[in-house]
Amino acid sequence: MKQCKLFATTLTLLFIAACALDTSRSDGRQTEGLTFFHLNDTYRIGAVESGKAGGFGRVVTVIRDAKQHGRDVRVLHGGDFLYPSLESQLWNGQQMVDAFNYMDDIAPMYVVAGNHEFDPRTPEHLINAVRQSRFDWLGDNYVFKTDDEQVDGALRRAFIFEHGDKKVGVFALTLHPDDGGNDRAYVPTDIDYKEIAEKTIQSLEKQNADLIVGVTHLHMWQDVDIATLKEKHPRLLFIVGGHEHEPEHSPATVNRAAVMKGASNARVIWRVDVDFPDDGLPVITRSKLMELDESIESDTGYDEVEDKWRGQLLEKFPFLTATVGEAAVPLDAREVTIRNRESSWGNFVVDQMRGAFGEPPVDLAFINSGTLRIDDFISGDIRFEDIGRTFGFSSFLRYLNLSGGEFRQVLEAGYRGAGPSKGYFPQVSGFRVCIDRANPSGKRIVSLQVPTAGGWAEIEDGADYTVVVPDYLYGGGDGYEFPQLREASRPGSELKYRVLDAIMAAQAQGQKVGAPVDPDNPRIVILEGADKDCFR
Ligand SMILES: [Zn+2]
Repeated sequence: MKQCKLFATTLTLLFIAACALDTSRSDGRQTEGLTFFHLNDTYRIGAVESGKAGGFGRVVTVIRDAKQHGRDVRVLHGGDFLYPSLESQLWNGQQMVDAFNYMDDIAPMYVVAGNHEFDPRTPEHLINAVRQSRFDWLGDNYVFKTDDEQVDGALRRAFIFEHGDKKVGVFALTLHPDDGGNDRAYVPTDIDYKEIAEKTIQSLEKQNADLIVGVTHLHMWQDVDIATLKEKHPRLLFIVGGHEHEPEHSPATVNRAAVMKGASNARVIWRVDVDFPDDGLPVITRSKLMELDESIESDTGYDEVEDKWRGQLLEKFPFLTATVGEAAVPLDAREVTIRNRESSWGNFVVDQMRGAFGEPPVDLAFINSGTLRIDDFISGDIRFEDIGRTFGFSSFLRYLNLSGGEFRQVLEAGYRGAGPSKGYFPQVSGFRVCIDRANPSGKRIVSLQVPTAGGWAEIEDGADYTVVVPDYLYGGGDGYEFPQLREASRPGSELKYRVLDAIMAAQAQGQKVGAPVDPDNPRIVILEGADKDCFR
């Protein structure tokens, strides 16, 4: 942590105000201009898709490249990184802090906490993470209340850094528990995002900020709403955010700041170049969505950080690389697939849920795709690591009875809201469902069918069905609401081991697992345009 933060915890408000101006990184050198790189929702220390996409090694390469071209580079992160991941189950996100520190040493890095930074119920992990951070933790609508004075004082409120003779103000906001944030006593959070943003912007204006940017972990529509503050505060140029896992862009207008989000695991990041015309307001001279693919080499210096953690992981769990089975086809578990449509890996995983409570298998099962974290293809040999990376959380299941009408109503939550790539999007088994997103939220399922002796029939509203769902969803997670009177079994049977067991059973019989999604027999149909034909 920087020196001034330590003062801020112990000395007077005067010092806090002095510390709000960060000159520690300003070398006073004239540069070619100011460049921001923005990333969000990163869970992997390395790249994904067998090393072909994303990863901090590629981020470091593009940062170094911009710096070599004389740019003054700042790295922004929209939150969600300490959890969940295979590594975090061992190190509580220390591996991410190490990676961020590496980037921060090259270009100053400013980070807002996302909901996943507060996954654990108690703050020990956060204390360790913040104490080891050289990058800056930002937050204007929340505070750390960990009882560790140094950590609690380290969270930076709206601050200004200098670029040449220009002042750049940065504010940061994160999700309140009512909107999907974690409800933790060690991080009291305020929900009045826009009001706080405006007050913060006003304070930055008073400090003569030439340019103001927001770093958030909110829903896209909330960012776009905050962006309208540009009308009254024209130096607000852009907001970059997280929480969504696929790229989003709301371009700037005269009255609205630009809003941008990248893809998870740095598969796609944003580069934003800004300029300060002699008379007038700051402008974005270039905003570029950068796909970090094989055309960009990983930085060899960063690779050493990655290799170090890889080595420690394999030391702890040497069996991770062991083959447990074989995939019949490349099983698609990328977030871009699994959070938007039927997925071959999703189908295989959810099929294992139906037998989790013995014979006969239950009628219906589904899982929120956000539980499945690997963000990769699983092809050829299936290794234990693929299972470990798929389940970043515990995955205990519950069994219950629901009427067809109740089930339909519960499932509607999976198709609510706007925009792509929601972690609550369900992968399903035992039924097929047709969605029309043109309908209002809560009324988007136009057909929900179960198999019959002769084919398929609409689910019967009044009939009872047996159902298996994750304990997390039964408890109200991800916005799903189960009827209060419908009691479920105790949480039992962990899905991670059901999946492992199924793969090993197939391997024992010399069989491969998984099947491609069948376009002639889909489980999930999402109507597009004028086409209202669900199941042909
Ligand atoms: Zn999030």
